[in-house]
Amino acid sequence: LAGARDLVDDLVGDRAAEWDRTGLIPEEVLRTLSARGLLCAGVPEASGGLGASSAANGEFTAFVGSRCSSLRSVMTSQGMAAWTIQRLGSAPQHAAYLPKLAGGQLAAVAFSEPEAGSDLSAMTTTIERDDDTVVVRGQKVWTTAAHYADMIVVVGRYGSGAAAVVVPSSAPGVTVTRVAQPSGCRAAGHANVTLDEVRLPATAVLGGGQPLMLLVTTALAYGRISVAWGCVGILRACLDAARGHARTRTQFGKRLADHQLVARHLANLLTSEQIAARVCEHASRCWDEGSPEMVVATVLAKQVSAVQAAQGAATAVQVLGSAAAHEGHVVERAYRDAKLMELIEGSTEICQLILADHAVSMPA
Ligand code: FAD
Repeated sequence: LAGARDLVDDLVGDRAAEWDRTGLIPEEVLRTLSARGLLCAGVPEASGGLGASSAANGEFTAFVGSRCSSLRSVMTSQGMAAWTIQRLGSAPQHAAYLPKLAGGQLAAVAFSEPEAGSDLSAMTTTIERDDDTVVVRGQKVWTTAAHYADMIVVVGRYGSGAAAVVVPSSAPGVTVTRVAQPSGCRAAGHANVTLDEVRLPATAVLGGGQPLMLLVTTALAYGRISVAWGCVGILRACLDAARGHARTRTQFGKRLADHQLVARHLANLLTSEQIAARVCEHASRCWDEGSPEMVVATVLAKQVSAVQAAQGAATAVQVLGSAAAHEGHVVERAYRDAKLMELIEGSTEICQLILADHAVSMPA
């Protein structure tokens, strides 16, 4: 990932607020990062990727998240698509898709449906085999990056189990409609996707026939760790802005940082950033070691980091006062973006339920 941070700084510069306002990241920014393999840096070198460890990719994800949560969201989707293909796909499918994802193309992953949000077992999208083709029918909602994507990894029912299918956005029967004015990560290209009798070669089906929730858990593991690291980035951006402001703004004859109640806010922000970073490092270590703890560690990282980011961003707004009350200010964006992190990839409550199940089933 050498030089990657400089490239991101060059490409993003001070434009994140403008992208947030217009709801669009310029396509050449996304294509440039994709062509360098940076939107899914964990793709193995043998498949044309950078082969980054989860720890290295995580720190890079946090860096991108500190600059622009919309861009980080697109990165999470691309990485989750690549991971799903890597985990569920055959060797020919790896060869067909992964070099494209590390070489300039863009992807999204669609699970959620109008009646299947937290409860993905209510999913009704079907992938039906018809000789050497499949037909995909269904409605997906809130698919991050779908507005930009060349391909959408769609999860649906397949026979008595489930599968994912790689759907080119340009395939007949695919309609991508942008979600109007999302409250945060506004330039992440969220869209609803209608799949109306989309006929594809059967070779587009990944992991056909496994239990739905097993497939979902596999794909979401990447999304969770990526969002968690993104939240570390949000906290770092908030901490930087809050301490910079508290050092330089004077009220009642002394720096804000010298008022103890403001200093406590800074201590809380630093604590949030450190807690989130440590749980993410632990999850990435489990990931890189292939530890059986990985699934629980990623849920823990996502739950803790999202809650800390939402609280930390609110604290940063408090420290900045009216300075953060301008639309597009880094802390104002963080406040809106962080709240959404508590909803996605398994809301805070759903993560808590998974952690509670784990706690109950742990040996004494
Ligand atoms: P609901 O499931 O209706 O939940 C509403 C509330 O009830 C939440 O607080 C939830 O925690 C709580 N709740 C639900 N069930 C329980 C329970 N059993 N116990 C306790 N509390 C419960 N989807 C995709 O497929 N791909 C994407 O790329 C994607 N990106 C997204 C990006 C953003 C910014 C947003 C907002 C959503 C995105 N989604 C995506 C959808 C997202 O995964 C869902 O919003 C999420 O799963 C929650 O579903 P829901 O919004 O329908 O809320």
